[in-house]
Amino acid sequence: MTTHLFGANRQRVGYEDQEWAVWVLGLDDVHHQQALTEALELAAALNSSFAELRLRDSSEFSPVLYAVVLHWGYAWNQAVEHSFGVDCGHPDCGPCSADRALPKAV
Ligand SMILES: [Zn+2]
Repeated sequence: MTTHLFGANRQRVGYEDQEWAVWVLGLDDVHHQQALTEALELAAALNSSFAELRLRDSSEFSPVLYAVVLHWGYAWNQAVEHSFGVDCGHPDCGPCSADRALPKAV
């Protein structure tokens, strides 16, 4: 079974009320994170150690593990967030920062 992480038919794999998290596919672990940068750093660190493990143990029985950054429970990808009209959460994103500066309608 394939999980669609990105794109129009993406599936939520984390928690919808959790802004940032890192999800480990294979273990189904969700690690709560404070911010995007933190989540990207953790995901990168996990992925490099998973790759290292894979190099040392290439047995077909060992699970394939990888980490993805989750935003509101969905795999984070800036372009996909924009295509859904969602704030991508990137602190330096021009269009989203402009939206954040506007007072929210109550
Ligand atoms: Zn954006």
